[in-house]
Amino acid sequence: MQLIKCAIDGVRPQEKPVTIFWAWRDQEGTRHAYRQRLCIEHYTTNVLALEAYHPAERLTCPACGIDVEDSYIPIYATVYMPGAGRINLELPLCDPCSVRVRVNAEVGSESLPDRSLGVSDATPKPTAWETLRALGRA
Ligand SMILES: [Zn+2]
Ligand SMILES: [Zn+2]
Repeated sequence: MQLIKCAIDGVRPQEKPVTIFWAWRDQEGTRHAYRQRLCIEHYTTNVLALEAYHPAERLTCPACGIDVEDSYIPIYATVYMPGAGRINLELPLCDPCSVRVRVNAEVGSESLPDRSLGVSDATPKPTAWETLRALGRA
């Protein structure tokens, strides 16, 4: 039994929950960021289909598959899957799907202040040693 409850059903899962950092900008350009923890079951029903998305030459909506090359709403997600590491998702969603994904992302999640541990800031900075090595000096 885990201490953290699933954001959707409020049940403490048996296995470690999946942590998802969601981020998007609204029409005024304000950034919204949320941290959501889901049991494996709700991750599977709510997010897994989006995780399988791969951008093609022409962009299609990851949720419904329509062509969104000329107009889409980008939603970013960083998924921390226990035992599987981190997955970064960039989702070009059509209008109605973006609404649905945002509503689902807000269920039971914590709103994160701008510039906190959000999607774009989650990448660890390279250490000095890694930088030197990248430059061929170590
Ligand atoms: Zn659940
Ligand atoms: Zn769609």
